[in-house]
Formats: sequence, C-alpha cells, structure tokens
Amino acid sequence: MDKDKEQFLKEFGADYGYPDGPKSVDDIRATEFKRLQDGIVYLDHAGATLYSELQMEAIFKDLSTTLYANPHSQSDAGMTTSDIVREAREQVLDYCNASPMDYRCIFTSGATASLKLVGESFPWTYRSCFMYSVENHNSVLGIREYALQQGASACAIDIENPDNSCTGSLKITRHPLQRRCFLNDKAPGGACSLLAIPSECNFSGTKLSTDHVIAVKEDFRRQIEGHNYHRLDNHKLLVLVDAAKGCATEKLDLRSCDIDFVVISFYKMFGYPTGLGALIVKNDAAKLLRKTYFGGGTVDAVIADVDFVKRREGIEEWFEDGSISFLSIASIRHGFTILKSLTPGAISRHTKALCTFLRRTLLDLRHENGTFVCTIYGSQNPKNVGPIVTFNLKRPDGSWHGYREVEKLAALSGIQLRTGCFCNPGACAKYLGLTHQDILSNLEAGHVCWDDCDLVDGRPTGAVRVSFGYMSTYEDLKKFVDFIRSSFVSVHIRPHASKETMHDALASSVSGPRNVPLEPRFFVNSINIYPIKSCSGFQKESWPLSSTASLVQEKAATEFGTKDNPARYLPGAEWASAYADDSVVTMA
Ligand SMILES: *Cc1c(COP(=O)(O)O)cnc(C)c1O
Repeated sequence: MDKDKEQFLKEFGADYGYPDGPKSVDDIRATEFKRLQDGIVYLDHAGATLYSELQMEAIFKDLSTTLYANPHSQSDAGMTTSDIVREAREQVLDYCNASPMDYRCIFTSGATASLKLVGESFPWTYRSCFMYSVENHNSVLGIREYALQQGASACAIDIENPDNSCTGSLKITRHPLQRRCFLNDKAPGGACSLLAIPSECNFSGTKLSTDHVIAVKEDFRRQIEGHNYHRLDNHKLLVLVDAAKGCATEKLDLRSCDIDFVVISFYKMFGYPTGLGALIVKNDAAKLLRKTYFGGGTVDAVIADVDFVKRREGIEEWFEDGSISFLSIASIRHGFTILKSLTPGAISRHTKALCTFLRRTLLDLRHENGTFVCTIYGSQNPKNVGPIVTFNLKRPDGSWHGYREVEKLAALSGIQLRTGCFCNPGACAKYLGLTHQDILSNLEAGHVCWDDCDLVDGRPTGAVRVSFGYMSTYEDLKKFVDFIRSSFVSVHIRPHASKETMHDALASSVSGPRNVPLEPRFFVNSINIYPIKSCSGFQKESWPLSSTASLVQEKAATEFGTKDNPARYLPGAEWASAYADDSVVTMA
C-alpha cells in the first residue's frame, strides 16, 4: 500500500470503506462495478450516481420471472403488481423515517415533476408568499412562476450558516423579487405560504439542518405578526425540502422535524431507474392542494359530454395521473437493498471521509511561488457539508483557469466530473460573487448555461464540481488529486539526478548555440503542445533553444500562425522564458 493511503487510513480507517459492512468498498468495486475498471474515474454522483451490476442482475431476474401487469387491472398479475407498488411506497416512507400514519408517497417522473406538482396545486392566493433559499435548484425556483401568476409574493432568503454547528443565530437577508416581497398588506382572510429549502445544496454541498427550518419558520411567524392584517392562526406556512441530492448519502428523518413535502429522485440514490421520483407529502398538507387536471386512474366516474367528474378518494390516487411507472417502481427495492445492506449511516461516513480528505488536500496545494491553487466554495466544516467539493483553480499569477479547460483536461485523464452552475444559479452567484448586473452582462456577452464561456473578463462564470457516491474509493480521489497536481500546480520542473546524464542529454539533443550555462538545475521532461484551447495536445521530441535557454517563440508563431500572442498557444514557451535566467532546458 502506498504511503499516502496509509496516512489516509490512519485518520479515516474507521469510516472509510465499510469496515463493519458485509463487503468492503474494494470488493464492491471489483464485483459490482466492473465497468469502472479501465481506469475511469467517475466523480459526478451529484449529477447521477451509478447503479451496481448486481442490482441490475437482481432487477433482470425479478422482471423476467414475475408476471407484472397494469396495477389498475383487477387480474391476478395486476393485484400482484399493486402489492409490490404498495410495498415500494412503504419502503420510501421508511427510508425517510416518515410515519405511514402521517405521510403518503406519491410516485412521479422525478424530483422536478414532484416540485412542479406542488407548485401547480398549491393554494396560492394574493396573500401567500413563496419563500425559498437562494441555494435552490432551478426546479424549485420555477415554483415562483405559479406563485406570482396567482398574485402571491415571492421572496429569496439567504441562510448564512455559521460554522459552529448551527446553534448560533442565523442571518436571513431578503431580496425583493420583481418588486413584490413578502405579504401583500391589505389582504384579509386565511392563506398558505410555502418555504422551500434543499436538504443539501447541489452546488456547495451545504446541508440544512432541522435548526435551520425551525429558525426560518420562527422568523416567518414574527414577520406575519408584524403585519396588522395578518393573524397567525389563519396563516399556514408549509415547508418543502428538496432532498434530491441530500438523500443519496444522508437519510432524512421526518420524525424529528415538521416538514410537509419532500421530493426525491431514485437515480440520485442508486443509479437506476431514471425517470422515477417521489413526492412525500404530509396528509394534512395534501388536503390543502388543489388539483385541476384529472387523468386515467384518478377518477371514480366521469360523464364524457357533461362537466361531471367524481375523483377517487386517496391521496396517491388523486395525484398519480395515468398508469404509474410500475416496472420502474418494482425495481427500486433492489436499490434499497444495497443502501440497507451498507446502511445509510456507513454510506454517509464513507463519503464524508473522502470529501473531508479531498477538501483538505486541495486547500493545501500551493504553487512554487507560494500562492494557493484552489478556491473551494461553501462551508469548510465537514459537519455541515455533503460529499461535494466545488472549486476553481488559479495560476501562480492569480489568474483563473476556466472550468471548461479543467473539465476537458480531466476528460483526457479519464476523469468525469461536472462543471458550470449545476442548475443552481442562486448558489453560483452567491459563491462566485456575481451580482445581478454581472449575470445580465455575462448573458449579453453571449454566456448561457451550456456553453464554453467559462471566464468573462477573467472571472469565472461557474465552477468545477467533484462529488462522491457510495462506491467511490480512495483510488478515485488519488487519481483526481494527481491530475490536479500534475496539470495545474506550478510547472513540471524537477531537480535533475546527476550532472553527467544532464550533459549527455544536452549534447545529444541541443542543436542550438553552445553558450548555454553548464550548471543546469532544471530539466524538461516533455513538451506538450495544445494548439486549440482545452483540446487534446501532441508531444514534441525536440524544440530549438535560444541563447538564453528559452524555447524559441518564433517557431510557435510561424507553426501556429498566432503572431500576436504565441505564448498563449504555447504554454511551454511561456514558462521557459520565465525560468530562462538560471536554468537550462532540454528534453529528457
Ligand atoms: C438532481 C436534482 C434535482 C432534479 O432532479 P430530477 O429528478 O432530475 O428532476 C432537483 N434538485 C436537486 C437538489 C438535485 O440535485
């Protein structure tokens, strides 16, 4: 075992790799993730985590040996399917520690569909307020369109999380949105408002605790009481938690806090199936929702040519239009089997160990001139963050590397990660310090979510995100850190072993002037040329040197036709001239 890993295990051995589980993480990788064995390093678990090959075998066996049918059918197969769907609902509630007496599980086509369902059926009035943390996914922010359309107000809040384990006071700042903020003053009668927060921010990994929910609710109550026209007893504040990211590595505990809606997505938890999510809803909250549309499976009786419909009783029946995705629903138990066998607690500790170590390693990286390489966004307290590390990289002179450049170079090293703003514009703006004006002028400068415009005026428009899953290993982390070290930390110069080999190498490879200094201190290992930014480069066997031992820049200018700025297209030339004073360069 290498020394670094030994050091890592010394500190994290009790948490890393499922020491008390049925299988070690190395066994899991060797037997259930053979498709990762070709040196692929997958670090985009916040985008989608990976399914295990054993999980898929179990699903295949299940589907090919059970007769599944539409659960709306009264046939034997239909009834069997119904039973399996019912068990799946129980399993989802159980995973969130939600009492089946108080909560229901509605299946949807994903977390986004669950959020949209809440948005479109919430009883908005002009007295309501949609309050949401700025660190929410676009799919949550979109709810405000329904709220505003119904005359409600919307309000973005920034919960600044003090690092001392959430016991300190919370700073809540309000931003007016479209000139409407907070409750409309003159409105009489009762109303419902909605507070939406992520259980874990998918940009920074910042986790929300029960204390946050309580503090924000308290603050909201005070605000209502401050309004003469509002009485607390007829104004309800419902709480929605977006757990799409958080619940992959951290179990939610609905018994310990008062939450009305939770949305999840199964591919974020165990990779398969996609296109299936759930809305976990409190019975009392579900009764407040208004649904307009009715689809197949949601009605007891309809008259086709008269406006008559009698909807089915039962919360799931009310909201699940059409045939539910019963084969996908039947598949989730095989995913839960894995999470259960490892235990959610151990998954959380395992991924946290990797994340804590990576954060520390990246924060410690320095260039040769002593400047820091990495800027990490979000809380640095391991207690308050999920297994995400989001960052940008700087050169020794303090200028930023674009995130697309990092992503493309990572891809060349077999490392898959995600870059940009991750559909979380609020967190992105907050951590990168982008003002509304910056965002608008970036857009005007032609930057949209999906493009290559990673820097505007030298400032990042997004970031690089590395995220871990239950099957991530120390080796994944190591390859990633090695990649960052070799590609972004200072320059690839190392002291040479012996003067003799240096002289031999010089004699055989340098065809330039003879007056190079004879006391060499540094040695060029290889010269890679990247003529097109962020694309694969090629290696040169040799390159002419000038009398001061710098790479001849004219060569680059003529070969690549960039007379104005050859150094930009030839990084080797750039540093070679920077180090030319006291070093000799040649090829190893
Ligand atoms: C992935 C994600 C979503 C969207 O989930 P889908 O199932 O793809 O619709 C929403 N919120 C957060 C925090 C996410 O990470």
